[in-house]
Amino acid sequence: MTERTFSIIKPDATRRNITGKIITKLEDAGLRVVAQKRVRWSKADAEAFYAVHKERPFFNDLVAFMTSGPVVLQVLEGDTAVARNREIMGATNPAEAAAGTIRAEYAESLEANSVHGSDSPENAAIEISQCFSDAEIVG
Ligand code: ADP
Ligand code: MG
Repeated sequence: MTERTFSIIKPDATRRNITGKIITKLEDAGLRVVAQKRVRWSKADAEAFYAVHKERPFFNDLVAFMTSGPVVLQVLEGDTAVARNREIMGATNPAEAAAGTIRAEYAESLEANSVHGSDSPENAAIEISQCFSDAEIVG
């Protein structure tokens, strides 16, 4: 079933100029970039996006990291896009990520792990609407 998910290329990856390498991985996995923009998040943007994690011990560090440089926000479309993207991203901790995944190849650490991907179709819809208008998504 064709579906959409929300993706972020994180500041560790924009800093190292490897956004193209990551996009190639996504495209090779069968995902299409149907919306994309490069922005610098404010503290309020990052806090709102990661509100679900606000009680976690790593929350303040995560907000500082996500505002430390540009991020590339994307809407990805494809067959079972949410699960497909999680698969090609690899595990949250790059030490546990399967070979060939984005995090196994490119992540620097558990925090600076290069990409975000929605964890469910419901959250994908919420995250997409937080960051893109309908007119910015061109399938
Ligand atoms: P995922 O991005 O794989 O969905 P989570 O939603 O659990 O992972 O966490 C959100 C982000 O917070 C992670 O991608 C990572 O950047 C950071 N993070 C998660 N767990 C930790 C941790 N224990 N220490 C530091 N940063 C973490
Ligand atoms: Mg998550």
